[in-house]
Amino acid sequence: MPTTSTPLGEFDLIGKYFTRPVQRVALGVGDDCALLQPAPGMQLAVSSDMLVEGRHFLSTVAPERLGHKALAVNLSDLAACGARPLAFTLALSMPRVDDRFLEGFSRGLLTLADAHGCELAGGDTTQGALTLCITVFGEVPPGQALLRSGARAGDDLYVSGQVGDARLALEAFRGTVALGGDHFEQVRVAMEQPQPRVALGLALRGIASSAIDVSDGLLGDLGHILQRSQVGACVEVDLLPRSDVLAAQPLALQRECTLAGGDDYELVFTAPASKADAVHAAAKRAATRVTRIGRIDDSGRLTLADARGQAVPHHFGSFDHFKS
Ligand code: ADP
Ligand code: MG
Repeated sequence: MPTTSTPLGEFDLIGKYFTRPVQRVALGVGDDCALLQPAPGMQLAVSSDMLVEGRHFLSTVAPERLGHKALAVNLSDLAACGARPLAFTLALSMPRVDDRFLEGFSRGLLTLADAHGCELAGGDTTQGALTLCITVFGEVPPGQALLRSGARAGDDLYVSGQVGDARLALEAFRGTVALGGDHFEQVRVAMEQPQPRVALGLALRGIASSAIDVSDGLLGDLGHILQRSQVGACVEVDLLPRSDVLAAQPLALQRECTLAGGDDYELVFTAPASKADAVHAAAKRAATRVTRIGRIDDSGRLTLADARGQAVPHHFGSFDHFKS
């Protein structure tokens, strides 16, 4: 009989932690390929995101939260396209077989997967530095995907949820900001367990003219919409939705966190002013808060204004892994 201290082999651990019965996937874990069966006529939306220890997450994160986040950041990309999650694959590299880690990680991962009907269809497992790479597959009717390229001058600009807490948590971990216990825990959850806005993305099909999810900072990601759509925008910085914890911080830090924080996984999107009612109805259907934060214009630039309409100078760019 193997004792509990006998480390599992590769195939045992795949069987124990990553093999689940599948319903919407035609063939899941166990063969050379998985077989996906999208509904007839649907386009497949595909996206990959990789998480590397020390780069995308701290070694202090609980395994369950890491499992959640690894999938959440991928589902966020499907949300930004208005795609319905179907399946995902998991490529996992880890230094050793650690049951405590695998048990928590797989629980966090599969709980979120179940919540979105997104089935684990396959993957790869190897020894090495802790790295997680997930590829998600979603379904979207042809022509209905939300793209970065559809924003037009005059459109309203919106963001879901609230932004900046993940960055505030990072600053607290770094020791540059001191937060009380409850406040620290609150922003830490925003950083470690983001909720992908899948329902909102689906509800915005046919309403939003463009969309992106905020992973690298609101202004930087909005910049991608502006570039792809060949438009400018003015963001009213005082309208940016933020938590009470962040709102209690100095204004300069609030702006840094909301405008350039990153790791928010909220949706930034645009819609014609004539669809404002439809946007709010979609937000209600998705039970997700949505805030208008500015307007698309034809200036070709990204400008900021405060509540009095005064221009706010800024130096914020997008997070770039090779420049920071
Ligand atoms: P191959 O060597 O043919 O690529 P593997 O030995 O890597 O196959 O994987 C065996 C089976 O287990 C495959 O179906 C693969 O998709 C699945 N698999 C491997 N690692 C994982 C994982 N981390 N999560 C889910 N499925 C996995
Ligand atoms: Mg393989």
